[in-house]
Amino acid sequence: MGLPDMAKRLKKLPFYLYPTIERATEKAKKGGRSIIDLSTGEPEFGTPAYIINSLQRACENPMTHRYGNVMGYRPFREAIARWYKKRFNVNLDPEKEVITFVGSKEGIAFLPQAFIEPGDIALIPDPGYPTYRYAAAFASARLETFPLRPENSYVPDLSEIPEPIAAKAKMIFLNYPNNPTGATVEKSFFEEAVLFAKKFNLIICHDAAYSEVVFDGYRAPSLLEIPEAKDVGVEVHTLSKTYCMTGWRLGFAVGNEKIINALLEVKRVSASGHFTAMEIAGTTALETEPAELNENNARLRQRRDFVIGELQRFGIEVRPPRGSFYIWFPVQGCSDSLSLCVSLILNTGVVTFPGIGYGENGEGYLRIATVQDLPKIEEAFARLEPYLKEKQIITQMGTS
Ligand SMILES: *Cc1c(COP(=O)(O)O)cnc(C)c1O
Repeated sequence: MGLPDMAKRLKKLPFYLYPTIERATEKAKKGGRSIIDLSTGEPEFGTPAYIINSLQRACENPMTHRYGNVMGYRPFREAIARWYKKRFNVNLDPEKEVITFVGSKEGIAFLPQAFIEPGDIALIPDPGYPTYRYAAAFASARLETFPLRPENSYVPDLSEIPEPIAAKAKMIFLNYPNNPTGATVEKSFFEEAVLFAKKFNLIICHDAAYSEVVFDGYRAPSLLEIPEAKDVGVEVHTLSKTYCMTGWRLGFAVGNEKIINALLEVKRVSASGHFTAMEIAGTTALETEPAELNENNARLRQRRDFVIGELQRFGIEVRPPRGSFYIWFPVQGCSDSLSLCVSLILNTGVVTFPGIGYGENGEGYLRIATVQDLPKIEEAFARLEPYLKEKQIITQMGTS
């Protein structure tokens, strides 16, 4: 009697803690607390007007109301190829080396579906963006994590991955500028990664979501700037962060033709082309450098510096990240970041994200996203300080 059981692959997925955070936030709201949400990675900046106007115009054309091209609207793929040429000096064939997705999350989810046989290994950064873990687990991969350590500036030492594990791995996920740590790399790291992938015949999936959210003159490289990267890898990208378009779901993958084709095969059976009007707006977005981009990054840098300064005052030393809008910091004596996060929500209304949500190595850390304006972030720290002191989570206080 009753419904069949959910599939094991669904029941066996790693614990997803976002609902716990949402419930705590709801409870705090009902209790009358005003919420300052520094958890989700979307700044309050709106999408630039020229992109919104482009979507409005595109909607008027009935051609856009029909099924979209499953590989992506051809002019959008061409614009992606031109953007890669301009931004990274990388040549891409829009017919074979570019595919669009309904958000880069979709592309990340499809990759293991295309290449993993049950039990094959996927190499996952710990801490790391949870989608890699879920996507690989959902394809019945065996997850093997590799550590990102603060003493190595959260850049992995690939030679640490045991050879028998690397030899059985089908893919490795990398992400720089990094979520959640804000770490960045130089091109030489991607050279090492390509050698590693060639040695062990595995796929590199590099997630470049934050390549344009950078500070202090840092320029984020693309994996594909390495001449042989196209033999082994794809880069997934998104308009979500660069253009403040999280809800528009405009993502894509570029790189190795065989991998792009396999992604297309999965997409054919699981999804359809995006709304063409949306991809026309995406084309417009990529063709114009948004005037807002530098302003937004300047604001994010200001917020970053404020947060780093406050943490320093609390006795927590963190190097200012050169990319992304995240500040990742250890909390002394914290062995349950989820409980800490929930109690911060209930007692101060400030929503952060617990490190354990990014993997076991994230335990003891919190992530703050600088996604509210400076006065709100100041207010958040004014609320956090007395609470953290009362709980003796911070003791060492400097001046200022
Ligand atoms: C935000 C984010 C993305 C973007 O996902 P979309 O599905 O394109 O909105 C991808 N990767 C990382 C690491 C992110 O933080």
